[in-house]
Amino acid sequence: MQTRSLTIFGATGSVGESTLKLVRECNSRFRLKGLSAHSNYQELSRLALEFRPELVVIADDTHYNALKDSLAGTDIEVRAGSQALIELARQPVDCVVGAIVGIAGLAPLYAAVQTGQQIALANKETLVAAGHIIMPLLAETGATILPVDSEHSAIFQCLRGEQSAAVQDITLTASGGPFRQLTRQQMSTVSREQALAHPNWSMGPKVTIDSATLMNKGLELIEAKWLFGLGPEKIKAVIHPQSVVHGLVNFKDGSCLAHLGAADMRIPISYALDYPQRLSWQADTLDLVQLAQLDFAAIDFDRFPCFALARQAMAAEPEQAVVLNAANEIAVAAFLADKIGYLQIADVVEGALTRFSGCAQTLSIEDVILLDQDVRHFLSAQTQLC
Ligand code: NAD
Ligand code: MG
Repeated sequence: MQTRSLTIFGATGSVGESTLKLVRECNSRFRLKGLSAHSNYQELSRLALEFRPELVVIADDTHYNALKDSLAGTDIEVRAGSQALIELARQPVDCVVGAIVGIAGLAPLYAAVQTGQQIALANKETLVAAGHIIMPLLAETGATILPVDSEHSAIFQCLRGEQSAAVQDITLTASGGPFRQLTRQQMSTVSREQALAHPNWSMGPKVTIDSATLMNKGLELIEAKWLFGLGPEKIKAVIHPQSVVHGLVNFKDGSCLAHLGAADMRIPISYALDYPQRLSWQADTLDLVQLAQLDFAAIDFDRFPCFALARQAMAAEPEQAVVLNAANEIAVAAFLADKIGYLQIADVVEGALTRFSGCAQTLSIEDVILLDQDVRHFLSAQTQLC
């Protein structure tokens, strides 16, 4: 079988690590062309020595010399900075893996889309903020986006071979995170460590906090709107504490297709890496008898206001999602730095949405980046959050 060339953005993160585990396991199937990381140059160097890509990029250019020195004597090219990330995204490969966290992934994603690449996308914040610009560009450039987020991979698989007119609605599942059963009163005293202790998934810190507030599920509603071209009224979410069913599609004939699998990101990643084939690897299979029971419940908007805010943004003009995402990134970073409490995350996001309601239109990627920065400046001036 022919090898597939890959570039991995965010190679040192949780999704990056899961992707590299698959590459190790199926090493004759994939060949790495490029790897990137933000600042962890030691880990990037270690990965470069193991996988021997042609090019590595460290986004934080203060680590350029250290990375370059650590790879001296190899033929691996070393580059640094945001422009180098964009150039890496333009290098033609069979699949670009987008696993940067946050809006920082937008410029390389946009460059990959402009270049007509096939992209396995985990970096949901980019579609949340700029789906209205990126999705129409796919048809123009021939680029494709394959979802890596487990719920979206599930829906994508359920929709395969189906006509969009036959779809009644889709449902994403949410584990409910560590605070699924807490009252608002109990949530007022939760610590960073409690919020970082996700019951089912092992992930990077930002998405783990988003999973505790259920902002993650809200961002995923918006991500689904762009990926599947559905109206907001057709996109639902439900609590499912076992994280076994990842997504469901109701069809107009009364059929419901669901996707089930272990809570292991390698499953959706493998589907995107080798699409339209299925990669053969040592995945765990579900034992239904051992599972015995699957539970579902409605999401409580009062206890999870971040979800409610994101749901409103999904139905509003796309600029609201830019503001929601930027404010949430700031608020989560502030919570992780012990500057605000858990319940204040939603307050920060709501305050920014109020301040920026009816803001200027974002017709280009530059407009999105400017609005994102305006929100960050506003929050840093108002609350010393940044
Ligand atoms: P992570 O924090 O573990 O890793 C983030 C990666 O992005 C790191 O390699 C880091 O070096 C890089 N990065 C961070 N800031 C950067 C910057 N300014 N410039 C360039 N690179 C930068 O995050 P993660 O958990 O792997 O999540 C990555 C993305 O995938 C997020 O958008 C998340 O919502 C999404 N996602 C993650 C999971 C999961 O299981 N971890 C599941 C579904 C979706
Ligand atoms: Mg998800």
